[in-house]
Amino acid sequence: MKWSISVGKIFGINLRIHLTFFLLLFFVFASVSSERGLKAGLMSTLFICAIFACVVIHEVGHSLIARRFGKEPRSITLLPIGGMAEVEEMPKKPMQEIAIALIGPLINLVIAGLLYLLAGSQVGISLPGLYLESAGAFVSGLIGVNIMLAVFNLIPAFPMDGGRVLRGILATKLDYVRATTLAVGIGQAVSIFFIFFGLLSNLWLTIIGIFLYLGAGSEKQQVILQSLLANVPAGEAMTTEYTSLKPDNSLADALEHFHHGNQQDFPVIGDYGIVGVLTRDRILSGIHTRGLDAPVSEVMDREFVTVSPRMGLDEVYKRLMADKKTAVVVVEDGRLEGIIGLDSISRYFMIKTALKGTTTDGFIPLS
Ligand SMILES: [Zn+2]
Repeated sequence: MKWSISVGKIFGINLRIHLTFFLLLFFVFASVSSERGLKAGLMSTLFICAIFACVVIHEVGHSLIARRFGKEPRSITLLPIGGMAEVEEMPKKPMQEIAIALIGPLINLVIAGLLYLLAGSQVGISLPGLYLESAGAFVSGLIGVNIMLAVFNLIPAFPMDGGRVLRGILATKLDYVRATTLAVGIGQAVSIFFIFFGLLSNLWLTIIGIFLYLGAGSEKQQVILQSLLANVPAGEAMTTEYTSLKPDNSLADALEHFHHGNQQDFPVIGDYGIVGVLTRDRILSGIHTRGLDAPVSEVMDREFVTVSPRMGLDEVYKRLMADKKTAVVVVEDGRLEGIIGLDSISRYFMIKTALKGTTTDGFIPLS
């Protein structure tokens, strides 16, 4: 995620903190200490840190269960509105998704229970404000927050944990796309409620609502796309009429092709075959940093991804997303067969949709 910094690893999982999180800490510290003095300010800031430590344990829970099911966790990011665990891919088996989702809220309940056993009989449970008068208020507040986190996360608003449980349950009866569409619909209805209810009561809820609404929408798109892409071999969607570049071509040559052709990514062919891929972003940033006369070889991506023409398009798409690439090259027996970019995938589906609508099954000229 942009604007986040890596702060280390837990169980081999990258822990990242979004820069806006520090804004939250600063805001809490500044507002409390200006009203109640330095000590109160520090206490409140420490309290926020303690809450987010619990959030991290919650996210580690999701990640470790996902790892148990063979889905490698990528990173955990802390945002001012909560934590986000990124896993290479969610398992499609409903029971596994339900287990991964449920562990998070369960961990918060366990933390609340442990704190209560250790100190709760003296301090009780409270829903804290930002002003903490004593160590007792700190602990009782933390118990309250953990119960709140568990309950809030179980609200069936996709992509929160409750929404994932809901999709898992629906997916035991329906196909995956249908289950996702339903769970996303319910989630977006709940998030619209958050947005408006938040406007009347607490803006924080509005921000969370917007975040959930957008998150649910993009999950739905991903799932629908994945199901469309499955069973289509890469060879069918690849661009076979492409322009290639040589390593000693200049960026001006590349820009010329980019400007006058409709190609975004160019394979770079050396004496013994393909040596790199020059993407649109690399052309533009290369011109900016090195000028028009720089050779293509200086800015091309040497760690390009190759796939076989028989690989499923859903796998190709996953590789593109996982390696953060905009194009892969299709190679068979060491020979370059074509190139697949995100643009060729969407073009393929445009053509498919158009063909479905026609009554003739003849050849449609595409130029
Ligand atoms: Zn969670």
